Amino acid sequence: ESRPGRDDVIRGTDDDAFISKLSAVNLGYLDDPFVKHFVKRPSRRPPIINRGSYLRTTMLDNLMANFLKNDSRLDQGSSTGGAASSSSTTTVPLIKKQIVSLGCGSDTRYFKLKANGLSAHKYFEIDFAESTAKKAITIKKNKKLLDIIADPDHKLGLGGTEFYSKDYSLLSGDLREFVDSIVPKLKAQGFDTSLPTLFLSECVLIYIQPRDSDDIVDWVGTNMDAALFVVYEQINPSDPFGAMMLRNLKARQIELPGIHAYPSLKSQEERFMSRGWISAKAVDMNTLHDSISEAEMKRISALEIFDEVEEWQLLAQHYCIAWAYNVKKDLGSPPRHD
Ligand code: SAM
Repeated sequence: ESRPGRDDVIRGTDDDAFISKLSAVNLGYLDDPFVKHFVKRPSRRPPIINRGSYLRTTMLDNLMANFLKNDSRLDQGSSTGGAASSSSTTTVPLIKKQIVSLGCGSDTRYFKLKANGLSAHKYFEIDFAESTAKKAITIKKNKKLLDIIADPDHKLGLGGTEFYSKDYSLLSGDLREFVDSIVPKLKAQGFDTSLPTLFLSECVLIYIQPRDSDDIVDWVGTNMDAALFVVYEQINPSDPFGAMMLRNLKARQIELPGIHAYPSLKSQEERFMSRGWISAKAVDMNTLHDSISEAEMKRISALEIFDEVEEWQLLAQHYCIAWAYNVKKDLGSPPRHD
């Protein structure tokens, strides 16, 4: 059931995440010249939040870059590959690949990856119409963004709530109706279930009821020839810190139905393994923080004073990245080549 008031609150979580991302960009944690185009009221965030934005963004960037670069065959994304930036080469995949970003909000990865020479054959983004309308008009009015899209035939659609171009489509819809309404929209824009596809949910599935997020995972597992699913979200709701986190969110009317269904690393993996996916791995952000190379740690440590080490570790134990892959059992031949 759609509840406008509550959905507005959920949509607002993107503004918050994006102000934090710009804060991390402005301080030098992240290199992304596109974020500023999507933030109206920049504000500096505390060190602990900047480090969190840095880590989550860098780790997911690396997973996505590895997916696009890896041409031998679809695999697990071969771990997140450390924190050092890995997107500076100009690799264009030999195998056509797709990316589907669920609840994309203001995410700039399409622009960032493509500017770094890493293009997907098709990159789809989905969010509520209220959110995509703002994003679509921002893109339509911005020459720098249109230059990256590089398609003179790009156009707005559905009353300005959607944006279509050769390799990038921004689509509006409700993820709670994924199978019935999102999938047909994807297909109308050239989405191909036979191509290796990365599905990204960065702080998204956690906001919807498990039965609805499970429908998405089921559909992807059953219908895609080869899929990598990447999830970033909160875990560990029951310890004192986790309970406090939930209380703070509740005070802002934000609920996380997904956290009760997938509260641990193990259950994040089970979300996929119990549905017959070939492999799944979930790692908390504290562990990923420990994987940052010495040189990179030195670089980010010099950006601002960071005293809250214990608080950071606690916070980071409450977020994870999970990634899972699946290849259709009855697939007779390897993924199609160009
Ligand atoms: N993925 C982006 C990122 O990490 O920067 C945005 C994350 S934001 C915390 C959550 C996003 O999910 C919002 O943009 C919200 O509108 C979207 N979202 C939540 N529930 C949704 C639903 N049922 N249908 C479509 N979008 C949804």
